[in-house]
Amino acid sequence: MENEHRINFCPHCCNRAPHTLLITQGYEGVGWMTDGDEIPYDGTYFVARCETCKEILIYHSYTEEDYRSAELYWPNIGLNKAVPEEVSRIYNEAIRIKQLAPNAFAVQIRRALEAVCKNRGTQKHSLAQQLKELAEKGEIPETLSEASDILRLIGNVGAHASETEVHPLQATAIDQFFKAIVSYVYVSPAMIKEFKENMKKYSKTLETPNDRMQPIAGEPSSG
Ligand SMILES: [Zn+2]
Repeated sequence: MENEHRINFCPHCCNRAPHTLLITQGYEGVGWMTDGDEIPYDGTYFVARCETCKEILIYHSYTEEDYRSAELYWPNIGLNKAVPEEVSRIYNEAIRIKQLAPNAFAVQIRRALEAVCKNRGTQKHSLAQQLKELAEKGEIPETLSEASDILRLIGNVGAHASETEVHPLQATAIDQFFKAIVSYVYVSPAMIKEFKENMKKYSKTLETPNDRMQPIAGEPSSG
């Protein structure tokens, strides 16, 4: 019997290619509502192979849905939902050409970084100066704004296309640099906000038994 396949983007080789289903593995998962109630679900992992590069991909579904409607779980290429849509959109275009066209990738990442700076309201002209501004405002660590090799490379590429060639290894470094920036500016603050909210929501569900523990009349209330 022929294996099931679907055509999708492969983050390994950056091609749209058939992904052949190799293994289907169901599991019994448990999630939680914000009030602490459990929600059991039947999830499924689908292990597949890209027919262009032969690398492995993992798709996942929170239901017993079929392979074709499952979402790509690994490798994960998208940015966190805390990143503004404009920045994500430019990055999603960039990541698709990272392997095939590292120069064009670097130009796109420069655009994405400029979008981050614009979104954070920086005033300076050059990208290097704008990142320094973000560091001065405490939004990124100073060491990131001082990554001059990377900044010089993404500043030169495209402007002097004939002289500057970005090696795929450098494209990976540029990608990591960009992800570090968005992680400091958007992802970490959103994560901290979310865990504080979750702590607050969950502690509400603990209030009921605590309500019974009223201070004894006449006892001075603390705090
Ligand atoms: Zn592939």
